[in-house]
Amino acid sequence: MKIRFTPCPKPEPKEKKKVYVLKRTPLKNKPYKIKFRSDKRAEQEKAYLLIIKLWLVGKVCPMCGLPATCVHHKKGRIGKLLTDVRFFLPVTVDCHQYIEEHPEWAKEQGYSLSRLETNE
Ligand SMILES: [Zn+2]
Repeated sequence: MKIRFTPCPKPEPKEKKKVYVLKRTPLKNKPYKIKFRSDKRAEQEKAYLLIIKLWLVGKVCPMCGLPATCVHHKKGRIGKLLTDVRFFLPVTVDCHQYIEEHPEWAKEQGYSLSRLETNE
């Protein structure tokens, strides 16, 4: 009769992490963290918040006629489009939500533009 041993439940002692250093690695050996957003983008977003704050002054939402409280990006907000005033649309939060939920309708109304075409 064979005797079966169940595996030991204790976790095996962890080995010390091996550090692999590539030959061409510069002397800096700081741990590299992947940032949620790059410094460049963070700066851009800072500028963006300031821009929309100023830009929205006196703007009215074309859908409901109330003072606009946020910005809809007709062409999205990838890269430079984030701060491209040409594609800003002043809207209220409720209307903005409606636009996002009805992209086809928004395109028909001219509130959204195709994100594939470039006019650069
Ligand atoms: Zn509105």
